[in-house]
Amino acid sequence: MGDKRKIILTGDRPTGRLHVGHYAGSLKRRVQLQNSGEFDDIFIMIADAQALTDNADNPEKVRQNIIEVALDYLSCGLDPEKSTLFIQSQIPELTELTFYYMNLVTVSRLQRNPTVKNEIRMRNFEASIPVGFFAYPISQASDITAFKATTVPVGEDQLPMIEQTREIVRSFNHIYGEVLVEPDVLLPDNKACMRLPGIDGKAKMSKSLNNCIYLSDTEEEVRKKVMSMFTDPNHLRVQDPGRVEGNPVFIYLEAFCRDDHFERFWPEYGNLDELKAHYTRGGLGDVKVKKFLNQVLQDELAPIRARRKEYEQKIPEVYRILREGSEKAQRAAAQTLADVKAAMKINYFDDEELIQSQAKKFKAEER
Ligand code: ATP
Ligand code: MG
Repeated sequence: MGDKRKIILTGDRPTGRLHVGHYAGSLKRRVQLQNSGEFDDIFIMIADAQALTDNADNPEKVRQNIIEVALDYLSCGLDPEKSTLFIQSQIPELTELTFYYMNLVTVSRLQRNPTVKNEIRMRNFEASIPVGFFAYPISQASDITAFKATTVPVGEDQLPMIEQTREIVRSFNHIYGEVLVEPDVLLPDNKACMRLPGIDGKAKMSKSLNNCIYLSDTEEEVRKKVMSMFTDPNHLRVQDPGRVEGNPVFIYLEAFCRDDHFERFWPEYGNLDELKAHYTRGGLGDVKVKKFLNQVLQDELAPIRARRKEYEQKIPEVYRILREGSEKAQRAAAQTLADVKAAMKINYFDDEELIQSQAKKFKAEER
């Protein structure tokens, strides 16, 4: 296909408000890509159907969080004039694609997915994994391919999903002809952003682990969380040498601080390397570093918080944005589904040649 259009698809599960891990891992990048003008289409999906795969008994949670995620999007600078914000369940074509892709994936291939394995462990599903949850990587392949996405900006935990999608695309195109587009993953270029740890030092900040700084937290909530953060447990006295590797406070600084933050808030240091060197040598207390991190985060979050307040006063408009986005997304997915069904030869009624040739065959048999 000579189609060189550049298209983004990405999204989030409405299982809670979005946190600074989402911001570092994906949201901030999306806004930059949106404003770069390099993309022909940008689709941002609130993955409610996927959220239901492990929250089937709690639909109200998913329902309530749709608007929270939408508010987080808009307050970070996703602009409905430039990006299509939509709700997954409102696009039935996505479910239909999933049903056909299921035939191209083996059970053992799904069982090998390391992210899903880990999530099953975290949720204590073990022997009672819902089929829908087990198969969500296939549904994610539908989300991506339905929009012919070329670029998927996500955190590191999503790598196995994109690989699964690429396999499905190759398999589909091999059997049925070149219809689907193989997407590329776009990881954060800053290593600290790939998988931001929790404030408790756990490997991943995650809605489900209660270790998050939310984009919608108040100034005071952010300050309290930063001041209570896990650091180097062996850095007991100010004069002790400290470790910056694996220290969440420094990982957050790597993810968020710029040289101009030093100029404005802590001119004693020219940049993060100088600060790290002092901490490693000893003689620099955690409280000072946390205070600086708080200033950096507040600087990043204040405009987001202010925009959120504005949108919170316009909730019906936010739902209208989602409805219009869903309508646009549905039209795009319907086009792909039509191509898919034609390639799979399940387009019986719009294929006049088929009807005529069948008619001829049976007439011939009668003779
Ligand atoms: P859940 O616990 O419900 O799975 P989550 O916090 O993992 O929620 P998702 O909606 O699954 O959030 O992920 C949305 C996007 O944010 C994905 O691109 C994912 O890679 C990214 N992301 C999530 N958590 C982090 C993190 N701690 N650091 C970097 N990126 C993250
Ligand atoms: Mg997740």
